[in-house]
Amino acid sequence: MKKEMTEAQKLADALLAKPVHAFDKTLGGAAGAMEFCEGYKEFLDAGKTEREAVTKSVELLAKAGYKKFDKSKKYKAGDKLYLVNREKAIIAATIGKKTAEHGVRLSIAHIDSPRLDLKPNPLYESDEMAFFKTHYYGGIRKYQWVTIPLSMHGVVVKSNGEKVQIRIGEDAGDPVFCITDLLPHLSQEQNKRPLNEGIKGEELNILIGSFPFDAPDMKERVKLETMRLINSKYGFTEHDFTRAEIEFVPAFKAADVGFDASIVGAYGQDDRVCAYTALMAEIDTKAPQYTSVCVLTDKEETGSDGNTGLASDYLFHFLEDLAEMQKANYRDMLAASTCLSADVNAAFDPTFPDVFERNNASYLNHGVVVTKYTGSRGKGGTSDASAEFMGEITNLFDKEKIVWQVGELGKVDIGGGGTIAMFVANRNIDVVDVGVPVLSMHSPFELTGKLDVYNTYLAFKAFAKG
Ligand code: MN
Ligand code: MN
Repeated sequence: MKKEMTEAQKLADALLAKPVHAFDKTLGGAAGAMEFCEGYKEFLDAGKTEREAVTKSVELLAKAGYKKFDKSKKYKAGDKLYLVNREKAIIAATIGKKTAEHGVRLSIAHIDSPRLDLKPNPLYESDEMAFFKTHYYGGIRKYQWVTIPLSMHGVVVKSNGEKVQIRIGEDAGDPVFCITDLLPHLSQEQNKRPLNEGIKGEELNILIGSFPFDAPDMKERVKLETMRLINSKYGFTEHDFTRAEIEFVPAFKAADVGFDASIVGAYGQDDRVCAYTALMAEIDTKAPQYTSVCVLTDKEETGSDGNTGLASDYLFHFLEDLAEMQKANYRDMLAASTCLSADVNAAFDPTFPDVFERNNASYLNHGVVVTKYTGSRGKGGTSDASAEFMGEITNLFDKEKIVWQVGELGKVDIGGGGTIAMFVANRNIDVVDVGVPVLSMHSPFELTGKLDVYNTYLAFKAFAKG
């Protein structure tokens, strides 16, 4: 009997896949992951919008010796360069030993996150309180964005062309802003609304002031006083809101979650968790075989359209420039290139198990997730990575002792989502989605496991090294 069990066990070990907890297998152990996430939390706090994430990335790249890309220059293997697209997207690269017709290694994450944007004419007064009207950006559950402190970020272009930077609600002593909700005593009728209408789009109005301008006979003097204060600090007028990009995001900072501090809690981890890990991997890649290209792109949350999104040509024009510089055929270069679409997946949530299929869900602290396809309704709107490319990537991860897992975004026909993968695959490049599992994705306070964050960094590094 005992012998039979041993043989059965041997057979099981040889034939059956076993889930691995990243705690038991992560290179450098939990300590390495904890240390890595200290820099990650700083990155999150510094870059709460795509523009701020670009600024922070340029700072990190410049410190690591990256120089602004210059088409007229001759680059040699090991040279590090970066290119900023309209302050909202960035490409960083390390020139490889092999020339461009052998292809490049792309890691592409996005740095836009769901948030509340101001409307073009946002300021109004109602019942002696001043408010901003908003239009939400990306997929949010609106009820999650009320009664939390919000900070204001963005740029305003004044009539003289001068650009004003705004960041208020992040530093000690700054005011914050807030959307109100009903008290339970008076919410009988609101409680009957379905959850997705609990708070409606036109109810996402941000309270920004309540003191009137000191002129008792004037109308709308709270609005005037609010605009006076904005003008005295930033020097622009109400009209200038029409030429602005102002985003409201949760004001709280990244924090450790749990008694063991094993989890990062923060706004905007989709997808700055993959942005930071891919960027650090790019920075730490010295003398790669193939040119490594890390892209932090914009507009993913609204479908990647627009000239800072991956559906545009900005990345492909850069690749074409690289090919020309090395006198390589651009089409050969694309066909030989490979890409990790660096994006998050939904971590299994034991409180809401019904939307997940346990055998194909990703789990917190089970390592970096390899997502073969995303999309919805029968794999619509996705690039489905080939068996061959899945083999190439997962064999690499196994060889480099990276803890990885598979992940599918929820049960079939429950919902779905997309990434930038298809916009790269459509150019004749092999792509697969790789990233971090997230709990409470798209909420104001998303959660990631530190072991997953670290293994994702190791995965991008192994890939970029070639
Ligand atoms: Mn994402
Ligand atoms: Mn997203």
